Amino acid sequence: MDPVEKKPLYHFLPGKNLLSFGTAGCNFGCLFCQNWEMSQTTKSKTIQNIQQAVNRLSITSTPQQIVDLALKNGTSGIAYTYNEPAIFIEYACDTARLAKKQGLKNVYISNGFESDEAFAYIGRYLDAINIDLKSFRPQFYRKICKANIEPVKENIKKFLKSGVETEVTTLLIHGYNDSDTELQEIAGFLYTISSDIPWHVSAFYPDYHMLDVPPTPYHDLLRAYQIGKKAGLKYIYIGNVSQTEHSDTRCPRCNEVLVEREGYTTRVRKLNMQKGVCGRCGEHIYGIWN
Ligand SMILES: [Zn+2]
Repeated sequence: MDPVEKKPLYHFLPGKNLLSFGTAGCNFGCLFCQNWEMSQTTKSKTIQNIQQAVNRLSITSTPQQIVDLALKNGTSGIAYTYNEPAIFIEYACDTARLAKKQGLKNVYISNGFESDEAFAYIGRYLDAINIDLKSFRPQFYRKICKANIEPVKENIKKFLKSGVETEVTTLLIHGYNDSDTELQEIAGFLYTISSDIPWHVSAFYPDYHMLDVPPTPYHDLLRAYQIGKKAGLKYIYIGNVSQTEHSDTRCPRCNEVLVEREGYTTRVRKLNMQKGVCGRCGEHIYGIWN
């Protein structure tokens, strides 16, 4: 059970828990992966090795068992996360369909590399998605992530327009994707889709094949925050650090604190959750609140 804020999703059922699960493998190969023991294991081990590990842990579950577990624990929904859910899309879709019937929400945490077919297959069962926009440089996607940026940009638009509550995360890696120009390009791109998109600028910690890069200095996160504000984005959050400055949701019109966050403790303040508006000035606040 994970708080929804941990995904991170800040405009979706604040303070609620989601049953969160993943499998193994990824269609990306990010050198900085913060979850590589799950995501990259299929590249270093044989299928037999993985099967043995799975058998040892007895962690296989049917879609029905997952839904039952979510209901038993009184969660609001299920998050397909930790590794790229497109890797296990049939399993996710079978689970999501059952979950929806039981009134549970479905949340995808994704690298945004879904094909048109994958989008058509699972999109209608999803309520929210957090997509990583890891850089704005095709060569970064190619060299560091072993992938291609264009589908990711398209999918951010596509999911948002289809009514799935869409948030975007950028992990700032010092010297790789954090120049003023590149951050301006990312923020500008999101703004052209919608100024409502919540943008999470998140701190990197040395991991996997990027152990020689230092953790993101806090002032770089602040700089990204300022750039996002200047670009016109309404909701920017600094994450993956102990400082809680810029983790609250504020009204873009009157600046009232609507949702207050400290670590994973969340308090709804001036937000009218029924109407999805600021309780002080009535401004519409993007999100799924109930
Ligand atoms: Zn307001």
